[in-house]
Amino acid sequence: MAAVPGETDLFVVGGGPAGLAAAIAARNKGLRVVVAESAREGPIDKACGEGLMPDSLAALSRLGVGAGACPGYPVAGIRFLGEGHSVEARFGGCCGLGIRRTALHQLLVRHALDRGVSILWGATVRRLAHDAVELDGRGIRCRWIAGADGGNSTVRRWAGLDAGMCEKRRYGFRRHYALEPWAEFMEIHWGESCQVYVTPVAEKEVCVAVISRDPKLRLDETLSRFPDLSARLAPAPVTTRERGAVSATRTLPRVCTNNVFLIGDASGSVDAITGQGLCLAFEQAAALADALVRGEPHLYQDAHNRIRRRPALMAGLMLLLDNRGWLRRRTLSAFALRPAVFGQMLATHLGFVPVTRLAGSMMALGWTMVFGV
Ligand SMILES: Cc1cc2nc3c(=O)[nH]c(=O)nc-3n(C[C@H](O)[C@H](O)[C@H](O)COP(=O)(O)OP(=O)(O)OC[C@H]3O[C@@H](n4cnc5c(N)ncnc54)[C@H](O)[C@@H]3O)c2cc1C
Repeated sequence: MAAVPGETDLFVVGGGPAGLAAAIAARNKGLRVVVAESAREGPIDKACGEGLMPDSLAALSRLGVGAGACPGYPVAGIRFLGEGHSVEARFGGCCGLGIRRTALHQLLVRHALDRGVSILWGATVRRLAHDAVELDGRGIRCRWIAGADGGNSTVRRWAGLDAGMCEKRRYGFRRHYALEPWAEFMEIHWGESCQVYVTPVAEKEVCVAVISRDPKLRLDETLSRFPDLSARLAPAPVTTRERGAVSATRTLPRVCTNNVFLIGDASGSVDAITGQGLCLAFEQAAALADALVRGEPHLYQDAHNRIRRRPALMAGLMLLLDNRGWLRRRTLSAFALRPAVFGQMLATHLGFVPVTRLAGSMMALGWTMVFGV
């Protein structure tokens, strides 16, 4: 473990993407930052669709982290497949990025260290006091604490912020295949109560993830329901073991109290179907640093509510397609008839156009669903 400073401005519990982003944003503002991470070393892997949408890349670049030089694969847009239809939309003038979770983690660690963040590996926070955290039997004094300790956050519980929390769970499993990507799109294959995501992450590697409400539904069984995809993947060597994670829709009435602030999945999350989890974390990181240096920490709550609104709305709409087969069939068929509407909804999803335009897209979609034109 690196030398443990006796005091700091911001103490971050958890060195996943959200914790590292919070640390980078705070260092950008001149604060002293310590990150404690339970894992003994990086890079940390996690089950993830491994897609960074253009808005995620923009948020990352606002933190001063350019992902351009990073190993990854440019993604030009999103393709939905299912019910005999295939429809795609491009991200417009910009690109997304498929990137191995480990590569993203390495990138964030490097930027954090370059800026002078102290990262303590193998350091599990055991307790919070009023103005300190307890780490392996010794206290570190701090002005503020950021709980970036993931979906099962103990900081959230210690700070009493899980009162009134609402949560719905789905389950994700992913693995990688050594296979040249066949499309410049991130694909979402819609099935009965499950989706399979395919993200190109390197010249010769794709990430395949399944998400469903059934905790027992693994990749092999799911893929057997998607014969075309299965046939494409069958000859390719599997390069990673299957890894699972919970994809939660989690809302909290409050994400901060006194000097404790939650960020990333600890602060609530939208379903992984949106591909927005990392974007939320990066945007929250900037908002938290801003609020702290302005000396108005309560501003973080308002910013957090604002940042979450659009992804939460879009997640709700997408999950309707997961829950209702008839709606999924009609929607995919309507998108296939009018791909421009799919493009408009994707633009709203990514924040390229205001959410207020969604009403127009929904009306166009509804019209096509009813009248077939
Ligand atoms: C199946 C699936 C697919 C997804 N696909 C995408 C996608 O394509 N694009 C996207 O943007 N998002 C995606 N997401 C969401 C994204 O993975 C999460 O939003 C993101 O991992 C949240 O990062 P985090 O840092 O908040 O939490 P985590 O990544 O869980 O990190 C928390 C860290 O805190 C550490 N920790 C916990 N407790 C302590 C403690 N007491 N002391 C010290 N350290 C501690 C843990 O070791 C861990 O490293 C997906 C999620 C799932 C489940």
